[in-house]
Amino acid sequence: MSHPRQQRGLEIAATARIVKKGAAWLVPSQSGNGRYKVNPEKPHCNCPDHELRGVKCKHIIAVEYVIQRECHADGSTTITETNDSAGNGSKDLSTELERLQCGSNA
Ligand SMILES: [Zn+2]
Repeated sequence: MSHPRQQRGLEIAATARIVKKGAAWLVPSQSGNGRYKVNPEKPHCNCPDHELRGVKCKHIIAVEYVIQRECHADGSTTITETNDSAGNGSKDLSTELERLQCGSNA
């Protein structure tokens, strides 16, 4: 519980293999039990955190990061920090975001 969802989503985006399937994205469960299906446009995810609590879960956040990463492969970034619930993590988040930016020339 020490990490805000934004941070967890970022970690998933950085480490997990997230694949697009039609309009949905498949995000591996961090507990190792299968994958969650995320539709970032609604947004919707079939994990308990979203379905039971109606919050934007870490899977949706992770997919949003992946989409942003792909959309801005030219190097520009429009990621807005929204982790207003825990301002103390913003420095690490910025570092992670820099690492996440697409190395399109690689
Ligand atoms: Zn979810």
